[in-house]
Amino acid sequence: MAYIDGRWVDQARRFEVRDPFDGAVIASVTDSDDAMVDAAIDAAARAFPAWRSRPGPERGALLGQLAVRMLADEPRLAELCTRENGKPIAEAIAEVRYAATFLAWFAGESERIYGETIPSSHPGQRITVVREPVGPCALITPWNFPYAMLTRKLGAALAAGCTVVAKPAAQTPLGALAIAELCHEVGVPPGVVNLVPSADGARTGDRLIGSRQIRKVSFTGSTAVGQLILRSCADDIKRVSLELGGNAPFVVFGDADLDAALRGALVAKFRNSGQTCVAANRFILEAPIAETFTHRLVAAVAALKVGRGSDAGVNLGPVIDDAAVAKLQKLVGDAVQRGAKLLHGAPPDGRSRVVAPIVLAGVTRDMAIWREEIFGPVATLRTASDEADAIAQANDTDAGLVAYFYSRDGARQNRVAELLEAGMVGINEGLVSTAQAPFGGIKHSGQGREGSRHGLDDYTSLKYIAQRF
Ligand code: NAD
Repeated sequence: MAYIDGRWVDQARRFEVRDPFDGAVIASVTDSDDAMVDAAIDAAARAFPAWRSRPGPERGALLGQLAVRMLADEPRLAELCTRENGKPIAEAIAEVRYAATFLAWFAGESERIYGETIPSSHPGQRITVVREPVGPCALITPWNFPYAMLTRKLGAALAAGCTVVAKPAAQTPLGALAIAELCHEVGVPPGVVNLVPSADGARTGDRLIGSRQIRKVSFTGSTAVGQLILRSCADDIKRVSLELGGNAPFVVFGDADLDAALRGALVAKFRNSGQTCVAANRFILEAPIAETFTHRLVAAVAALKVGRGSDAGVNLGPVIDDAAVAKLQKLVGDAVQRGAKLLHGAPPDGRSRVVAPIVLAGVTRDMAIWREEIFGPVATLRTASDEADAIAQANDTDAGLVAYFYSRDGARQNRVAELLEAGMVGINEGLVSTAQAPFGGIKHSGQGREGSRHGLDDYTSLKYIAQRF
């Protein structure tokens, strides 16, 4: 079903959602047609004036209730996430909690949408600046965090006074539908949140972006699609924020605490089977510790258990679909053919979506696996001769989402953090995502920030009022 104007709307055309582990069909979901997308946009536009006029604390109270409802439903939501996304149940539980933190955070922020007054140079004049919601927004989300990628946008949009039409990824619409159900239950007014599942992201995306009533597009997904969206938004000078792909370096310096670096590496690389935008893509090991760290990484990777996400003790679930397996086959095959050395694992054989972790050494900068976002459980290793070499290698990418490094030297920590070209830096930290901090990238990794007080900026416009008195 689609959720439009506070009602569940169905139609004959449907698409199947499959369990990534075995390909079994787990649901058949309404494939929203153009008329439904238009109806959702109209509903969001109609609901906007009343929603923006509601006092911020009232909007926040609803968001707070939504967070509480999400957490109360944790077992069901986590199980649903493991089924449609494949991630281990412990990670699905963590995602539900993480997703709820955005609703709770923005529930608070809705009370703090401050403006300012500015002293004027003219006597008898006052300059006031207020922040206003941009209007109905299109929220387009990926499959790798079906809840969190939606609530990170939804929380900020609703807190700011915007209404939304959300379009989840075709692989994982069930989590988004569950959030729409909860919105309905806690009494989010009709039209404020609309959800249009679709089998064809490009068709529905174009319909949303092409609408004059949609005043902002917030997109999380691949850089290639982000570029298309940015171009499309130019026609109507629409506001657009883009959370795109990464190619994160993970640097281990000679002075690092190797135990901490190893713990961080496992989280940064293998969470969600490497299918996170902040996944460590490229390990850069300073020469003095390169051999020791490599041995320890291979031993730790060998102990990881792969399998069905709902089975006890599984660390890595399947990758999302056959296209993801084919991409890994191509990237790993190409690297091995060009001389990279397999220290652990083997190129996927294409018969299963469960891909055992792979460690590749001797990777060179001309290999696709070094230049492209891997989005799978493959660690690629290179050595660096010194700090300058490590920084040059880390920045040798079009992406700029996050960079990680491990060092115990305080001066180096500050120096290197400043020189890394990324929107986020983890120092002795393999997991940077949190509702309190501004999440986002530079270069080809996007524009705009989600989470933190800055997360409201993308959903508000400044209005300056000059007043004579
Ligand atoms: P994707 O770009 O294929 O799809 C993302 C969404 O866009 C889906 O809902 C899809 O249906 C829709 N879409 C596809 N074509 C479209 C078009 N032409 N117009 C409008 N919408 C369209 O990405 P994906 O495979 O779902 O997700 C993986 C990517 O997302 C990775 O590159 C990952 O790094 C990135 N990602 C980034 C962040 C971040 O915060 N920076 C977070 C999670 C994922």
